Amino acid sequence: MKIDRALFHPDYKAEPFWWEAARPGTEYSSDLPDKTEVFIVGSGYSGLSAALELARGGRSVTVVDALAFGEGASTRSGGGVSAGVNIGKGIAGGPGQAKHSGAHKQLIERLMNESLAAYEFVHTLVEREGIECHLEKRGRFIGANTSAHYLGFQKKVDDLNRVLQIGARLLAKDEQRSEIGSDYYHGGIVIEHASKLHPSLFHKGLLDACHRAGVTLCAHTKVEKIDGALGNFTLKTANGDCQAEQVIVATNGYTGELSPNLRKRIVPISSQIITTEELPEDLALELIPNGRTISESARITNYYRLLPGDRRVMFGGRARFESVPADLSAAILHGKMIERWPQLKGVRITHSWSGLVAMTTDSIPHMGQEDGLHFCTGCNGSGVAMMTYLGNQVAQRILQDGHSDSAYVGVEFPKVPVPFYSGNPWFLPIIGNYYRHLDRKERRRMG
Ligand SMILES: Cc1cc2nc3c(=O)[nH]c(=O)nc-3n(C[C@H](O)[C@H](O)[C@H](O)COP(=O)(O)OP(=O)(O)OC[C@H]3O[C@@H](n4cnc5c(N)ncnc54)[C@H](O)[C@@H]3O)c2cc1C
Repeated sequence: MKIDRALFHPDYKAEPFWWEAARPGTEYSSDLPDKTEVFIVGSGYSGLSAALELARGGRSVTVVDALAFGEGASTRSGGGVSAGVNIGKGIAGGPGQAKHSGAHKQLIERLMNESLAAYEFVHTLVEREGIECHLEKRGRFIGANTSAHYLGFQKKVDDLNRVLQIGARLLAKDEQRSEIGSDYYHGGIVIEHASKLHPSLFHKGLLDACHRAGVTLCAHTKVEKIDGALGNFTLKTANGDCQAEQVIVATNGYTGELSPNLRKRIVPISSQIITTEELPEDLALELIPNGRTISESARITNYYRLLPGDRRVMFGGRARFESVPADLSAAILHGKMIERWPQLKGVRITHSWSGLVAMTTDSIPHMGQEDGLHFCTGCNGSGVAMMTYLGNQVAQRILQDGHSDSAYVGVEFPKVPVPFYSGNPWFLPIIGNYYRHLDRKERRRMG
């Protein structure tokens, strides 16, 4: 694809816009200790959230990251904070939880309730720790990509309000300009109970809180091997060895060869984002009058919002499922943005970046313990609230000697159903093309 250079602002950068305010770094980084009670692999939201809870619970905790602190997905996201994981595509279910059984329905409702708890947990954490991260409760609009999707939305609204009471309502196509300056969608859902934040300022606030709580933090310390068993692990890292009683693997989309059992269960997918230059105030206001975060009903969904200050657009999506150069994803995403907002033709891109999210076969995140190692993973692209919450839940489980009230414990974690799959998603370009084809066909056929 030939890339039109006129799309790019002269100050264009191929890195996250968020890093202008808080760049992942090594502040607070110290030498790896010989010993710690709890060792956490990964310094994103889940690792830091777990560390904070454990340190406040009186444990000695060490968090390490192969990169700078937060350089994985946590400082790259869109910052949408939502209550509601993608439940409904089927949960693997253990014994007695056959699909459509009462137990299965109950499990789904418990998981949904915990997604609301996750949403609320982020707000509590931000307030408790005094984190300045532009957290704004401005709600969400989900656009219907086809008229059939819009018809299906009624059940979704009913389910959301019945189980979670999160103020969801349908918005017909002829009313949709009250929420988005576009005629692209066939109506949508408005959800009042949704927020947005500045991802890397939120991460910095968590890092500061961990430092205050006495967590040992080690950047650029890749864990290469974990030996031993519960109560007596040895972590072999690029910077020496460390003994630990408990280990939490909090590596999500960046899970590598260290955890072969987790890798077989998740598919790392690239998600990409661009931001625009500043827009005239009235144009920005017309785009998203109430400052909602926007998402869609298609298989390959885009997500977008205004940046703090309400004058610039952030537009994200899966330009490609696999990692591609930032300039290419920028040009593709710009095209998608113009499809939705033709009035932004000629508006230039200032930043373009990507990061990895972890998809699971059943579309829900998982936490648990395997071979003595605790884990939480599988954000499925929505982890600002959920991974922060699950990190906290894993920590509580350790503090409560293995006991947990979370419905996520014990949900079977299915393997990716691709023969010999061990973590290298060679099939992504094929699936990406197929989904794009289905989305286009459905939109043409149904309008
Ligand atoms: C472009 C993009 C947009 C997104 N938008 C949204 C959104 O709008 N809303 C939302 O809710 N979610 C969104 N997400 C998802 C969200 O960002 C993630 O779910 C969340 O940040 C995951 O946090 P985490 O701590 O589990 O993992 P991460 O933040 O990815 O951290 C994992 C860390 O583990 C480290 N690591 C891996 N292996 C090792 C090893 N062997 N040794 C040491 N360290 C290791 C990595 O270096 C990495 O820093 C988005 C993600 C991306 C990429």
